[in-house]
Amino acid sequence: MKTSHYFLPILKDPPSEASTISHRWMLQSGMVQSTVSGIYTWLPLGLRVLQKIQTIIRQEQNAIGAIEMLAPTLQPAALWQESGRYDDYGLEMLRVKDRHERELVYGPTAEEVFVDVVRRCVQSYKALPLNLYNIQWKFRDEIRPRFGVMRGREFLMKDGYSFDLTEKASKETYCNVFRSYMKAFYRMGLSVIPLRATTGPIGGDFSHEFHVIAQTGESTLYYDAELENREVSRFEVSDFEKLYAMVDEKHLPEECSLPLEQLKISKGIEVGHIFHFGDKYSAPMKAHIFSKEGILVDLQMGSYGIGVSRLVGAVIEAFHDASGPQWPLSIAPFSFGLIHLQETVESEAMHLYTKLKDLGIETLWEDRPFSPGEKFALMDMIGLPFQAIVSEKNHKNNQIEVKIRKTGERFCFSLDQFFDWAM
Ligand code: ATP
Ligand code: MG
Ligand code: MG
Ligand code: MG
Repeated sequence: MKTSHYFLPILKDPPSEASTISHRWMLQSGMVQSTVSGIYTWLPLGLRVLQKIQTIIRQEQNAIGAIEMLAPTLQPAALWQESGRYDDYGLEMLRVKDRHERELVYGPTAEEVFVDVVRRCVQSYKALPLNLYNIQWKFRDEIRPRFGVMRGREFLMKDGYSFDLTEKASKETYCNVFRSYMKAFYRMGLSVIPLRATTGPIGGDFSHEFHVIAQTGESTLYYDAELENREVSRFEVSDFEKLYAMVDEKHLPEECSLPLEQLKISKGIEVGHIFHFGDKYSAPMKAHIFSKEGILVDLQMGSYGIGVSRLVGAVIEAFHDASGPQWPLSIAPFSFGLIHLQETVESEAMHLYTKLKDLGIETLWEDRPFSPGEKFALMDMIGLPFQAIVSEKNHKNNQIEVKIRKTGERFCFSLDQFFDWAM
């Protein structure tokens, strides 16, 4: 992509409404624009990151046999009355009426809709297990929308719902989803800590939250220092159960036997939350099936959420410096930022750009006539993992310079070496 043909509305100065680092950079580098409080328009650069995060989640969900579908954003209030949550949910739920005075809600989550789908099509144990998910916009009328996309009112969530015959099978599904979440976060470059959590309005008896440690996090976490070890991404639920890890509401000092020096207390950003809740929805909504023995039983369920749009902000909170974000390669909007320092080497830059494009390497070329200083500042602010720099001096030596955004290290390559390395 050439910047001259792209839509990259960057801001010269930090916007005054930015309350956190990620909020600032997302607005300033032209990733999102605030449309109205807590509701954002995703601009092309931001959308690329949002889509890459979705792709990783999708791949890891599909890998455990979860099946993607798409539920609507508007749901009938009647479903929520059936489950008993209509009144409980309170002011966070946006309620609207259509022209026939029928009550609808903009889904803050979708347990009821998925239960309704399954009860209408599944009558026998033979159709189980089922693990269905979607990636869909949600709405919660947050009392204090803030920190940009991290606490929006409209936000993108991956939400999944599992249906099993027995509690044992349902808990196994829960463990599989847990593992796939850890893998997905790891692929995004994040160290995420899972902790035992309370279940809130979703309900249930067993639950974990996944947190990115960051000072701007809104939750306080209490956990064994061992959880900060990178190896944790390969742990199973049973490994975590041996370690102390609790979110604020769940932490009881009298039950924590950790020596003080091993108890970590940090702020965290909740990027995922999973629940096992058995028949909490299937019983009131009569989602039951015939077992092998011909007995009618309630489906055993779990639900699993990831804050897809929140993750974009959380990754910036985890990876940035004073000049802008430092995108991990797996979710960077482009892999390479290409700049040429003099007009005299524009055709060399063009050649490099075409070749990178042919190799399928996503490249953003700053081809507009800006000064080298402006080009470097722009590329740092966009935060692409690698910058390829074409200059008269390097060109004379048949070389190309590469800067690693995260470390600031610079290397010179011959053209052949460069393409070998970039592949
Ligand atoms: P929080 O504690 O931050 O209010 P929650 O516990 O209410 O979140 P869940 O019902 O567990 O949220 O929803 C699943 C995931 O959706 C959360 O883990 C979070 O990543 C994301 N999420 C929830 N609310 C928002 C929001 N207002 N903006 C962006 N993402 C959100
Ligand atoms: Mg909430
Ligand atoms: Mg929460
Ligand atoms: Mg939660």
